[in-house]
Amino acid sequence: MTKIKVQTPLVEMDGDEMTRIIWQMIKDELLTPYLDMQTIYFDLGLKHRDDTDDQVTFDAAKAAAEYGVAVKCATITPNQDRVVEYSLKKAWPSPNGTLRGILDGTVFRAPILLKNIKPMIRTWKKPIIIGRHAYGDVYKNQEFRVPVAGKAELVFTPADGSAPHRLLIHDFKGPGVIQGIHNTEKSIRSFARACIQYAINRKMPLWFAAKDTISKTYHAYFRDIYQEEIDAHRAELDAAGVEYFYTLIDDAVARVVRHEGGFLWACMNYDGDVMSDMLATGFGSLALMTSVLVNPDGIMEFEAAHGTVQRHYYAHLRGEETSTNSTASIFAWTGGLARRGELDGTPDVVAFARALETAVIETIEGGQMTKDLTRLCDPPVERYLTTHEFIMAVRQQLESKLPLPKMEA
Ligand code: NAP
Ligand code: MG
Repeated sequence: MTKIKVQTPLVEMDGDEMTRIIWQMIKDELLTPYLDMQTIYFDLGLKHRDDTDDQVTFDAAKAAAEYGVAVKCATITPNQDRVVEYSLKKAWPSPNGTLRGILDGTVFRAPILLKNIKPMIRTWKKPIIIGRHAYGDVYKNQEFRVPVAGKAELVFTPADGSAPHRLLIHDFKGPGVIQGIHNTEKSIRSFARACIQYAINRKMPLWFAAKDTISKTYHAYFRDIYQEEIDAHRAELDAAGVEYFYTLIDDAVARVVRHEGGFLWACMNYDGDVMSDMLATGFGSLALMTSVLVNPDGIMEFEAAHGTVQRHYYAHLRGEETSTNSTASIFAWTGGLARRGELDGTPDVVAFARALETAVIETIEGGQMTKDLTRLCDPPVERYLTTHEFIMAVRQQLESKLPLPKMEA
C-alpha cells in the first residue's frame, strides 16, 4: 500500500510516563505504517525540560505558532516529590500553562460518546463541550498570608501619570490571607470569539455563565464583553442557527446535569478546570475526553485531557502488564492530522484521521476495550485488553477499512 502523504510537518511534543509509552506505540502501530509524515519533534519529557532549563517548552510553543498545528503527549507538572524523583534543578511550571500563556488560547474539551459506555448522568445523550478560558484569574495570581493586623489595599498606578486608584480590600484585625487576580480585555475578547467560532462551526448552542450577581465588576466585565462579541457576530450566529444563553454559574451547573447535552459551555478559567473533570467523569472516563487549545489566529494544539497515568507507569516499570486506554491520545493525533489536512487541502489525510477514529470507536463498541471501560460497559464484557493488545485491535479494525477510497482535493 502506498502511504498517505502529510504535506506539512506536525509539531510533536512528547511527554512523560505511561502516556509516553502509548505515544510511541501509536506512532509505531497506527501512524508510521500508513502515513508518510514528518514531525517537528520536541521532547517535553521532564528530564529534557530540566536539562534545557525549560527552554524546550518555549521552543515548542514557538514552533506551534509557526506551523499552526501541534499534537502533545501528557506531561508531568512537577511538584516537590517529582523534584526529588527526577533530581530536578527546580519545580518547573506546568508546560500546559506555559503553552496556554504563549498562545493565549481557549481550551475545548469534548467527550467521545460510545454506544456501550453509558454516561453516569442518565439524561446526557449528546456531548457537552467545555470551552475553558485559559488565561488569568487565579492561575496568574499574586497571594500571600497576612501575618498581623493591618490594611490591605488595591492600588492601580496608571501608566499615563494620572493619580493612582486605591481601594480598601480589608482592614485586618489579625492574621489572614489575600489574593490579587486579573484579566485583560484582549484575552476575554479572544476567548469569546474562539467560543463563538467553535459554536458556529459545530452549529451548537453556546452557553456562558459567571457569578456577576456577586462580582459586579470583575465577572460582569466578562459578561459584558461576551455580549458585545455576540452582538458583533449576530448575523453569523443567526445564519448558523446558534443561540446564545447567559446565566449564573450555579444555575448553569444545575441545568447541565439535567440537560440532554449537545451544546458548548463557555467557562471562566477556574470553572472550566473544575467542571471539565466533572464532565469527563460524568460521561464515563477521563480516557475518553479530548482536548484542543485554539488560539485567536486559529493555531491548534491537540492532546488528551488526562495526565501521564503515573500508577500504570510504575506497574509497567515493574514488568507488569498494563491496561491503559489510548483512546484520547489517538484522538489527539487524529485531531491534529485532520486539522493539518484541512489546512493543507489534503482530504486523504482527513479521511485517514476519521477512519482511525471510527476504528477506535468500532473496536470498543465491538466489546474490545481496556480495563477502565469494562467497569462502565453495558452490556458487560468478560475480558479486558492490555495496553498493546488494544492498540493492535484498533489496527486490525483500521486495516479492514484500507485502502481508503481516494478523496478529491
Ligand atoms: P491522570 O494521569 O489523569 O490519572 C489519574 C487516574 O485516572 C489514573 O491513575 C487512572 O486510574 C485513571 N486514568 C487516567 N487516564 C487513563 C487512561 N488513559 N487509561 C486508564 N486509566 C486512566 O492524573 P494524575 O495521576 O493526577 O496525574 C499524573 C501526572 O499527570 C501528574 O504528574 C500531573 O502533573 C500530570 N498531568 C498532566 C496533564 C497534561 O499534560 N495534560 C493533565 C493532568 C495531569 P487508576 O489508577 O484507578 O487506573
Ligand atoms: Mg482540573
